[in-house]
Amino acid sequence: MAATNTKINRRQFLKASASAVISLAVVGSAAYYFKDKSNIREKGYLRPPGSRAEKDFLFACIKCGLCVQICPVHAIKLADWNDGLAYGTPFIDPNVQACDYSCDAIQCAETCPTAAIDFQIFKHAGNEAVAPLFKKYPDGQFPKDINPFEVQILAMKRADKIGEAEVPNPTQCLAYHGQGYKGKLGHGNKGILRPPGTKERIKIQETEVNREICDLCVTYCPLGDEAIVLDKLEDGKFLPKVKDGCVGCGVCQMVCPTDPVAIVVKPVDKEPQFA
Ligand code: SF4
Ligand code: SF4
Ligand code: SF4
Repeated sequence: MAATNTKINRRQFLKASASAVISLAVVGSAAYYFKDKSNIREKGYLRPPGSRAEKDFLFACIKCGLCVQICPVHAIKLADWNDGLAYGTPFIDPNVQACDYSCDAIQCAETCPTAAIDFQIFKHAGNEAVAPLFKKYPDGQFPKDINPFEVQILAMKRADKIGEAEVPNPTQCLAYHGQGYKGKLGHGNKGILRPPGTKERIKIQETEVNREICDLCVTYCPLGDEAIVLDKLEDGKFLPKVKDGCVGCGVCQMVCPTDPVAIVVKPVDKEPQFA
């Protein structure tokens, strides 16, 4: 009886060993397969505003998904297995849905439990911008043209650069050919946006525009002419010119009507602090 048990146990042992070897082989192959897979940055996706440098971010993000849930325009998605080590971490694809700061208070950063998205930079920038106002108007009687809340929000939007827009191939741009645009915003994508100077969000696929010369990337940019202008070239053609104030929110790419899009936002490199 004891001998039979030993035999069965040996068989079980061999079976378990074989399973372990197969599992290791599978995990090893998967690791080998994924190690060379491009991560989300190499795909041109952006990290949410306030995100730490890529190495620090991968270390700090616990993949809880809270930033995904809180974003009012559903700009943030979680990376899948094809994104290698970035699996489960949040990203923004500006070709589909940009970060247009519709939340005002940068809620993804505010809600992040590990500061992988760091709210402090926004808080400091906002406070620094409004502090002189409160000194100047200690009784809170601000002139009509000054809204401290708006001053604070604008400073927060400027506080972090997640990407930079560029027009890699001018011949794809309608303005470069002196062409206008009449039709729906965007290039068939379903984005949501709060146009500059307004309080309501619009659905880009339901928004009709009509421009003699296309300048949609310029007029929908939440940071205006400090980030992008329509430049008149020497030969009389036009081209969007991206300026230092661009923070890489992706709105210009989201609303551009050409396919493929003429203006794209590339993620910028940040200096790692910890890795
Ligand atoms: S809230 Fe922070 S920790 Fe959670 S998924 Fe987003 S970035 Fe990662
Ligand atoms: S929205 Fe696109 S096509 Fe129109 S001006 Fe900007 S880059 Fe050119
Ligand atoms: S140019 Fe404006 S809309 Fe485009 S990424 Fe920069 S800040 Fe955003």
